Amino acid sequence: MTAEIMIKPNPKFTKQFQKGFPLLNKDNVLTDLNDLVEGTILTLTDSKRNFIARGYYGKQNKGLGWLVSWKEQEAIDGAFFDRKLQNAVNQRLHFFYDEDTTAFRVFNSEGDGFGGITLDYFEGYYLIQWYSKGAYSFKEDIISAIKKLPNYKGLYQKKRFSIEGKYVDEDDFVDGDRPSFPLLVKENGVQFAIYLNDGAMVGVFLDQREVRKRIRDEYADGKKVLNTFSYTGAFSVFAALGGAAETTSVDLANRSLSKTIEQFSINGIDYESENIIVEDVFKYFKFAVKKELSFDMVILDPPSFARSKKHTFSASKDYKDLLKEAIAITKKNGVIVASTNCSTFDMKKFKGFIDKAFKETGGSYKLLEEYSLPEDFKTINQYKQGDYLKVVFIKKY
Ligand code: SAH
Repeated sequence: MTAEIMIKPNPKFTKQFQKGFPLLNKDNVLTDLNDLVEGTILTLTDSKRNFIARGYYGKQNKGLGWLVSWKEQEAIDGAFFDRKLQNAVNQRLHFFYDEDTTAFRVFNSEGDGFGGITLDYFEGYYLIQWYSKGAYSFKEDIISAIKKLPNYKGLYQKKRFSIEGKYVDEDDFVDGDRPSFPLLVKENGVQFAIYLNDGAMVGVFLDQREVRKRIRDEYADGKKVLNTFSYTGAFSVFAALGGAAETTSVDLANRSLSKTIEQFSINGIDYESENIIVEDVFKYFKFAVKKELSFDMVILDPPSFARSKKHTFSASKDYKDLLKEAIAITKKNGVIVASTNCSTFDMKKFKGFIDKAFKETGGSYKLLEEYSLPEDFKTINQYKQGDYLKVVFIKKY
């Protein structure tokens, strides 16, 4: 990384950058960045050419690059990445010592001081996700820093950017040992089957750890639970272990059936006594209404955007309607767990959707509790948008 260019902020944003706002985009930077080589080091200076911060060019869905250092003398080199990663590890030492939870996030992008990468830990195997070619251009220094981390056994990667329009995946293996898959990890004593070598989704979304625990420990006992957009059935497994009378998992993807069976089985639950349904949830809602099915708990955890044969679902446009479908099949005094990872709206707006959904169905409700990202998914105050997760437990009256 030798190229380094000076860039100018849009004066309206100078203060924010000085205070630590990390994201560069076409609105807050005056210099045209578009023709730069990915990974180019950028030095942001004010109108008097005073240093504000240093960053890099890396085009991703969120913007054009990230500021990563507010110290003029600090170079973005091997020692820089060693410091950043060690610092992130030091803030998470209790996770490394926790025998009941052996999967967690080690480094969370701009929350830990370097936007564009995340690093997760699965029983000694690390998984790095690169969100731009620019971030990937630092791979040598970053990988060498990762090899020095605690209990390091091996490294896998997901390239979340395309090369010539394609996502090139070998089997995502980078270095060290290859475990046999599934790799079994634990979360609060519950097993997860992880596949680091099989596409973008590895088997669990680590950011829902607290929500799963809460459902198991406080809500599930004796309850009839519907888990929609269920993927590997993680919420269903926690509900079953918490004493749920019955769980129903609904997901459109064929793979979800075998993955959910596996998830129940490795936790000693007889999957045949649980309902696992491969179907469009919107179709399932209609079926449930027709059959007069109702549930004590309905979990909604849709992707931000999804297209099925009959439906296009966009969380920012359609969440309210999704809630209305759920309200219709939730029992009186039942609980809806409404979750979204959509970063284009905040908790306030999300609660607005909830309120509207209940108003339009003529029902009343109470918000019981809410969750955002857990501590290992570290975020910073200067970039609140980084805290994308919103989960609300709602009681229906
Ligand atoms: N709740 C899951 C994660 C959900 S990931 C967990 O806790 O692990 C989103 C899932 O939604 C994917 O598995 C995808 O197959 C599924 N999906 C997307 N659109 C759907 C639809 N219309 N009906 C059912 N499932 C859908």
